[in-house]
Amino acid sequence: MPAEPWGFLHHARVEFRKRPIAERLRDWRAVLQLPLTETARTQAARCMDCGVPFCHAGCPLGNLIPEWNEYVARGEWHRALDSLHSTNNFPEFTGWLCPAPCEPACVLAINASPVSIKQVELAIIEHAWARDWVRPCPAPIRTGRRVAVVGSGPAGLAAAQQLARAGHDVHVFERDDRIGGLLRYGIPDFKLEKRVVDRRLGQLAAEGVRFRPGVDAGTDVSGEWLRARYDAVVLAVGALRPREVDLPGRGLAGVHQAMDYLPQANRVAAGDLRTPTIDAYGRHVVIIGGGDTGADCLGTANRQGAVEVRQLDHNPRPPELRDDDTNPWPQWPRVHRVSPAHEEGVVEDWSREVVAFAGDEQGHVRRVRTAVVERRFDAHGHRWFHVVRDSEEDLPAELVLLAAGFVGPDTVPLLDQLEVQLDPRTGTVLVDDEWETTAPGVYSCGDAQRGASLVVWAIAEGRACAARVDRALTGRGVLPEPVAPSSRPL
Ligand SMILES: Cc1cc2nc3c(=O)[nH]c(=O)nc-3n(C[C@H](O)[C@H](O)[C@H](O)COP(=O)(O)OP(=O)(O)OC[C@H]3O[C@@H](n4cnc5c(N)ncnc54)[C@H](O)[C@@H]3O)c2cc1C
Ligand code: SF4
Repeated sequence: MPAEPWGFLHHARVEFRKRPIAERLRDWRAVLQLPLTETARTQAARCMDCGVPFCHAGCPLGNLIPEWNEYVARGEWHRALDSLHSTNNFPEFTGWLCPAPCEPACVLAINASPVSIKQVELAIIEHAWARDWVRPCPAPIRTGRRVAVVGSGPAGLAAAQQLARAGHDVHVFERDDRIGGLLRYGIPDFKLEKRVVDRRLGQLAAEGVRFRPGVDAGTDVSGEWLRARYDAVVLAVGALRPREVDLPGRGLAGVHQAMDYLPQANRVAAGDLRTPTIDAYGRHVVIIGGGDTGADCLGTANRQGAVEVRQLDHNPRPPELRDDDTNPWPQWPRVHRVSPAHEEGVVEDWSREVVAFAGDEQGHVRRVRTAVVERRFDAHGHRWFHVVRDSEEDLPAELVLLAAGFVGPDTVPLLDQLEVQLDPRTGTVLVDDEWETTAPGVYSCGDAQRGASLVVWAIAEGRACAARVDRALTGRGVLPEPVAPSSRPL
């Protein structure tokens, strides 16, 4: 029974509060602000507990959304926390970062504004951290089994925490100097402050997870070494190989992959680096590609003091409202989205493709040559882009950032040493229904097997993979098994 059966009639949806643009452009701190306790309670009270909670199906973790909405609306924060943690190891990562596919799936979204599920989730976990309720949960019994997790992004961390709680000795290997994967080096602090990652790592360490940063598996330790010392190996190595843009002028100075640019900004925000070697200050910046990576380049370039930032996308601008015939509820709406970074200043160029980069005598990029394209589909429904004749236009650009997506794991020596096969079609690690790769005893989860995706999927897969590893190691599993590989794509 919902706390307020007619709450959705009495309370309007409230969006996230954000810091003023002029203020947030001067620092790297989080743009979104925590919902006030009372706001979280009234927003949670909008949940009608509709009987068939489509929001569950919208959430890759299967979060028990109506349950914790009811607890929050009643002010029962401890119970809300237990419910939330029963399906999600790291609700603060999703609370700050998730695009919330649960919300368009909310039954209220059929003809009204959905419940602000993500804000309620964030309020629960931050309420708990502020009161020191998030405590280590070490396993009562040790199994004596050893597991190596390679990669410390959300998938590796979720798998590691679950396996440690099942009593296994877990060592997390990470080639970067700090733990966190893309949460640490990739996603900017203005979306996720790194203290949020650090305090959760403290909990994992207290539960017995051992971190080995600065170890590149496949180079510093071999696949054979891992196999000899561990009863199971979990590959959570991400999908960090960027899609290349093979065009005239690609080799010019000032044309960079987004992931050569963003981690430097993370290091500056962390105080590890004084100035980035790739800097947007005083430059016309062109970002090629959209999505989270493009938006993060945009927010970073504006904070560094770019003169102007343009974002090019070869797709036509999506509609403002969903088309109910071709994209009905509860599907993820294919509409034009504006991230906080876009509100801070951008020139969006839709249906436009780069055809070449042009530089000066010193070999530094100065212009991007673009052309208008039309999206077309062939007889098999495959998308292609027709370049419109005489539509070329040069744009000023002293910094070009390529954010055209990722094409699979970039850790070839390790995969070769372990004899792990990749899917020839997608370039990602092949796994069976047990999350096991083609190499027995070697498992994979997260972006490495799914392809570049979302934090919520990485956590869901880390949990599911851990459950299968645990069962294989002990013959009986004590961990919940939430999702099957590659199911329910967003
Ligand atoms: C710029 C950017 C912004 C994003 N923003 C969002 C967002 O706002 N919301 C959202 O939901 N998702 C976002 N995503 C996607 C999300 O970050 C990923 O889906 C998620 O981090 C995948 O988690 P993972 O654990 O599978 O891999 P990763 O987070 O990629 O972690 C893999 C780790 O493995 C390590 N590794 C690889 N090979 C080795 C090796 N041989 N030895 C040791 N370590 C190794 C890597 O160094 C890395 O740290 C974003 C992605 C990018 C690139
Ligand atoms: S993790 Fe994401 S999809 Fe799931 S409830 Fe939270 S915001 Fe919604």
